[in-house]
Amino acid sequence: MTCGCGDESSVKSRRSAIGGVMGMGLAAASIPFVTGSESRAEARTLLESPTPDEALAALMAGNERYIKGNMIPDDHVSTRARLVDGQAPHAIILRCADSRVSPEIVFDQGLGEIFVCGVAGNIPTPDIVASMEFAVAVLGSGLIVVMGHSSCGAVDAAVKHIDSVESLPGSLPGLVSQILPAAIETKDSSGDRLQNAIAANVVNGMQRLPKMSEILKDGQDAGTLKIVGGVYDLKSGRFNLVEG
Ligand SMILES: [Zn+2]
Repeated sequence: MTCGCGDESSVKSRRSAIGGVMGMGLAAASIPFVTGSESRAEARTLLESPTPDEALAALMAGNERYIKGNMIPDDHVSTRARLVDGQAPHAIILRCADSRVSPEIVFDQGLGEIFVCGVAGNIPTPDIVASMEFAVAVLGSGLIVVMGHSSCGAVDAAVKHIDSVESLPGSLPGLVSQILPAAIETKDSSGDRLQNAIAANVVNGMQRLPKMSEILKDGQDAGTLKIVGGVYDLKSGRFNLVEG
């Protein structure tokens, strides 16, 4: 399958261009993940340059703490001071705009630890992808998490207006139409229709990202970038990974 990627030299030159234009004053600093108490340091596993799998493990461990109500308090004053000169987030999260879905809280992560991009329906729009390219190429992030959630209103709109998306008000048709493929492909599946569409929309996002960006594709091929996805359950608080 072709990906529409340029050759390797063009990828490198594009990376260089991004680093030169966007990295001014923002170059990834060597910031330890320790942000205060020793227990916080232990929870974040003291990762200085985590592999994608280590970054994912840190998020899942944080989600477990959140579920159990064992979130570790941060010293925001010292963390804020530590981050003035740079950032090195170990993961990128593509979240829905829903007010009940806050990745920093759900994954129990502190300031500077995750690079969060958001839009209703957690879809990879061009501007979202550009933001991710910055985090990967300049800040060195090695993990992208597409984060769907239960009871998603944007996906529900796609399911309910599967044949009439243009009837939605304002700018919604343009956004919801990007979720329609998930609603259509799960229309006749067994089980809960909305839940199926939410999971399919996550998978579609995971699969679209490397096709929309040669930088992301290049990182994925090199093994320096991992793209995963999952669905956050509003009731239990658990983030369940889905197969891409
Ligand atoms: Zn949503």
